[in-house]
Amino acid sequence: MAFSLQVAGKTDVGRARSNNEDNFGYDLQHGVFLVCDGMGGQAAGEVASKLAVQAVLEFFRSGSTSVGKPPRELVEEAVIKANAAVREEEGRTAEHTGMGTTIVALLMRDGAAYIGHVGDSRAYLARGTTLYLLTEDHSWAAEQVKRGVISAEQAQSSPWQNVLLRALGATDEIEVDSNQMQCEPGDVFLLCSDGLMKMLNDQQIANIVLLAPDVYTACDQLIDAANAAGGEDNVTCVLVRVQAEGAVAEQPQTQGPL
Ligand code: CA
Repeated sequence: MAFSLQVAGKTDVGRARSNNEDNFGYDLQHGVFLVCDGMGGQAAGEVASKLAVQAVLEFFRSGSTSVGKPPRELVEEAVIKANAAVREEEGRTAEHTGMGTTIVALLMRDGAAYIGHVGDSRAYLARGTTLYLLTEDHSWAAEQVKRGVISAEQAQSSPWQNVLLRALGATDEIEVDSNQMQCEPGDVFLLCSDGLMKMLNDQQIANIVLLAPDVYTACDQLIDAANAAGGEDNVTCVLVRVQAEGAVAEQPQTQGPL
């Protein structure tokens, strides 16, 4: 079945921070979407997240992506390229030393979705009446939950919540987690920075994504809800809706071939 895509993306500084270290980007033509959440003093975080977004988009736009390579490998390669871009800038400028960024990237190819991520930015899938978490946070708190040391609720308020076990920019070698799945018409993928999950639990996120009439409304509502709940961090959401080619879409719309 041929699919078309709709995308909505938005980033917001939140209510507590003076600068926004998140960045997002997408290219409908190449079916690539991503969110990056930077870290590092003196505005280095936003440099890192921007470099990572640009590196991934350039990777797919440059046409250098090897023909016939499995899409999942392409996503991993794109994330590795993003890491290299951040590392290069760190080596070039002293004030950018120690900067880093998370990354969650979604590639849509031939009716399938491929996700690569490093850090604690997340990908969710809303299908039918259920919201599924597709990624595992590379954070100290998530690791403790996995080991049964603390509960998910305790992790939510843990002072170590922000301590990442993996991030782009930390080392030359980077381990990328990736997965893939077949798409179904009506699927909505959500990529987001942790500023969303700090303020809203999965049920609250699900209520908005599953009930909103379209991805544009859902995107606005997610950002507004995070801010209404305190807006303690920068918040970024990218929503991608999969629909059968020729289906009547809500307005406004941007579409591209899957
Ligand atoms: Ca953040």
